[in-house]
Amino acid sequence: YLYVLGSIGYQKNLVILGTGWGSVALLKKLDTENYNVIVVSPRNYFLFTPLLPSCTTGNIEHRSIMEPVRQILRSKKASAMYYEAECTHIDAERKVIKISDNSDVKGDVHVTEVPYDMLVVGVGAENATFGIPGVRENSCFLKEIKDAQAIRTKIMDCVETAGFKDQKPEEISRLMHMVVVGGGPTGVEFAGELRDFFDEDIKKLVPEIADSFKVTLVEALPNVLPMFSKQLIDYTESTFKEEHIEIMTKTMVKNVTDKYIEAEISRPDGKKELTRIPYGLLVWATGNALRPLVKDLMSQIPAQKDSRRGLAVNEYLVVQGARDIWAVGDCAVAGYAPTAQVASQEGAFLARLFNNMAKTEALEAKVHELSSSLNVQPGNSAQVVQEIESTERQLRRIKDIKPFHYSHQGSLAYIGSEKAVADVAWLNGNLASGGKLTYLFWRSAYLSMCFSSE
Ligand code: FAD
Ligand code: NAD
Repeated sequence: YLYVLGSIGYQKNLVILGTGWGSVALLKKLDTENYNVIVVSPRNYFLFTPLLPSCTTGNIEHRSIMEPVRQILRSKKASAMYYEAECTHIDAERKVIKISDNSDVKGDVHVTEVPYDMLVVGVGAENATFGIPGVRENSCFLKEIKDAQAIRTKIMDCVETAGFKDQKPEEISRLMHMVVVGGGPTGVEFAGELRDFFDEDIKKLVPEIADSFKVTLVEALPNVLPMFSKQLIDYTESTFKEEHIEIMTKTMVKNVTDKYIEAEISRPDGKKELTRIPYGLLVWATGNALRPLVKDLMSQIPAQKDSRRGLAVNEYLVVQGARDIWAVGDCAVAGYAPTAQVASQEGAFLARLFNNMAKTEALEAKVHELSSSLNVQPGNSAQVVQEIESTERQLRRIKDIKPFHYSHQGSLAYIGSEKAVADVAWLNGNLASGGKLTYLFWRSAYLSMCFSSE
């Protein structure tokens, strides 16, 4: 039956959720002519997240890190559909997804269903808040373009409000206090950018209140950047000290109000102390949490019941316990860190897998056709048998696709003042260094990543 469908041109519906690192890497490398490709994402552009912290201070223009999905699709050999919508439910039993247009402009139809034969979930993750009261109401996050824009507006608002006539010194200090919670790479890079912004702009624009400008980075663990070597952690901490960025480690934020945060500090003697930190701008960067859609899908699949951080996938990125569903990037648990590097390699792997699957099906159909012709016209049998054997050899070669293997290209984080820290394994073994040269390397490494993804 499937063979008949194949021979009359039936193409499988390949539905791809998301337009982030994982899904876009898949799209770029996928031979779209083999499938009926449908992309569903509320964001109609790809976002180059490594440069997002630089957008908060206007160092980089936001349009330069956005790539429209329509443009990506236009460059494909065969057309693919795009719906600007959020997938709100995956019915794994019926193989149908529910999509909803949550944009400001809605037509008469804004909720509908899309059937799939194959589904790729690449919806990324949400900002983790751990249910800490006041975080959602009072903080800025740093994940999307609108977050970077909101941060920039708020910084300038704090500066102007601090400069308001008759403002008291204590209130000026509060307003000019920029607090970043979370000492992972997002928090560290943003704190570095803030300090640059102060040196390059604020000091010149509003010298009368510039002395009150202060950046504090709050981290629950004993040090920032836990994924880097001790040498680079020390380098980051000493650079921040020089730049007057205060790092408060072993400090766990417990509550957030509109003007201060409350945090528990663990003292060396083991005692805990509650402190209040007034702020003007609060940026919350404490990592990832599951999206409701992912939680909902996991709850439908018994094999996912022990997975906590996302959709458990096998070595071919198939969602365990599900039929015809794959997952990539931050929403998938494949044993790697939730990074753009991992997501893009996973997406590229799925493209190779799907391209291969399509070729396999075509070759299997050819073998079937040749075998049938052998029965009908026995006269040409030697030639046909030869052709069958050669097609089968091709089939064996392409069927033998190796499982996904992540190749780590190194970790880099910008720490301000034209400096970056890098743990890079692909330059003569292990290289761990920091300083101005690393910064130049950081920029060019990411630029080359940018071009190589084209
Ligand atoms: P994302 O890129 O987050 O994309 C998810 C997509 O799914 C989006 O298009 C979203 O709109 C869409 N979506 C969401 N919900 C739905 C839904 N219900 N239905 C359909 N679509 C949906 N990693 C590095 O390796 N190097 C770096 O230098 C680096 N820097 C970073 C800097 C910042 C500020 C941040 C926040 C992250 C950084 N990362 C970096 C991490 C990296 O961005 C993520 O690991 C990566 O984006 C994950 O890719 P993804 O495809 O899983 O998800
Ligand atoms: P993260 O998970 O790496 O770090 C979050 C930090 O917040 C942790 O160190 C955690 O201890 C701290 N934290 C959590 N709750 C807290 C609380 N209540 N009070 C104080 N501190 C608290 O998150 P991230 O920095 O957003 O990074 C997310 C992912 O994106 C990571 O995989 C990271 O490697 C990747 N990323 C990479 C880069 C880069 O390579 N340059 C940049 C940004 C993000």
